[in-house]
Amino acid sequence: MQMTNFDALKELLSTPKKIAILPHKNPDGDAIGSTLAMYHYLRKHQHTCNIVAPNDFPKFLKWLPSAKEIVIADYQPKRAEAIIHQADIIFILDFNTVTRIDDLGNWVERSKAPKVLIDHHREPDQFDFMYSDIEMPATCQMVYNFIEAMGDVDLIDDVIAPCIYTGMMTDTGGFRFRNTSSSTHRIVADLIDRGVEVDKVTSYVNDSQSEARLKLLSLTLNNLTFLPEYRTAFMFLKREDLLENGFQKGDTEGFVNYGLSVENYIFSVIFIEDTVHNFIKISLRSKGDFDVNELSRKYFNGGGHMNAAGGRSDVPMEETIQFFKSILPEYQESLLKVEI
Ligand code: 5GP
Ligand code: MN
Repeated sequence: MQMTNFDALKELLSTPKKIAILPHKNPDGDAIGSTLAMYHYLRKHQHTCNIVAPNDFPKFLKWLPSAKEIVIADYQPKRAEAIIHQADIIFILDFNTVTRIDDLGNWVERSKAPKVLIDHHREPDQFDFMYSDIEMPATCQMVYNFIEAMGDVDLIDDVIAPCIYTGMMTDTGGFRFRNTSSSTHRIVADLIDRGVEVDKVTSYVNDSQSEARLKLLSLTLNNLTFLPEYRTAFMFLKREDLLENGFQKGDTEGFVNYGLSVENYIFSVIFIEDTVHNFIKISLRSKGDFDVNELSRKYFNGGGHMNAAGGRSDVPMEETIQFFKSILPEYQESLLKVEI
């Protein structure tokens, strides 16, 4: 855990500032929840805030308070650049390195504004103010801790609370993943007291699925392949399947987890062809101490966490899958000894 310079940050935030708040590319519930929570919190201190996301985010997050105010750099590049350029302070939430925000990264690097990182990914770049903790299940939990450390927990109202709750719920897989702790539940208890309507959030997040998503899920499960000798399952989606079924961003979120729902399987991977560019996005999930972050860094130009990582491949699907199978023997021993 690293928490640096927070008194100095508190001092800096004691007068109104222009603040840019950034989530990572392909923002998920934790990225959108944490940036919106921070946006609403900082506005209570009379700061002028803007959230700038590199690209669009899924429909199931659009209901969050002020989600429609988020500036999407893909659609409004000039406005996005101006916000970063004019910011007095830049908040970097739920990602660890400026390479995760494409072009915005160059603008952030060019800006002289002090930068504040709050994030739970490994090996973060160094910024002026750092709150980094890889034990945390969600950046949203860290945003709660941050607001509490600023002495402002009572500013968490029924606008901020659902933002924080959504990120905690989605990044912990519904409070089921390993880093879900007693503090997670204590914070959730407090968020409910502060106005989270649990059934509403659950319904917004889980029951706003598209028809395309279910069709794609059925195609994916149809090619789900089991490799029992490695306790590994994998699946894939091809570009034409995505296009023919009206794929939209976010439709395939969570598919990879089905591979882990089978008894004794501890490693699951999904390969998804990009619909525009010539590469394959890979999502890797594991149980126990099988480290998919390490595997993805080594072989798929990616990274992430021990049990959830992403990566990419620049060769066609068949070759990518062949390559994936060819590296499994190296991991067989560790795969077989994982206790769950
Ligand atoms: P997903 O499979 O959902 O895209 O990503 C799972 C986790 O891995 C997320 O926490 C995400 O931040 C991280 N991740 C995904 N893609 C990459 C990547 O290309 N590089 C790194 N370092 N992390 C990634
Ligand atoms: Mn996160």
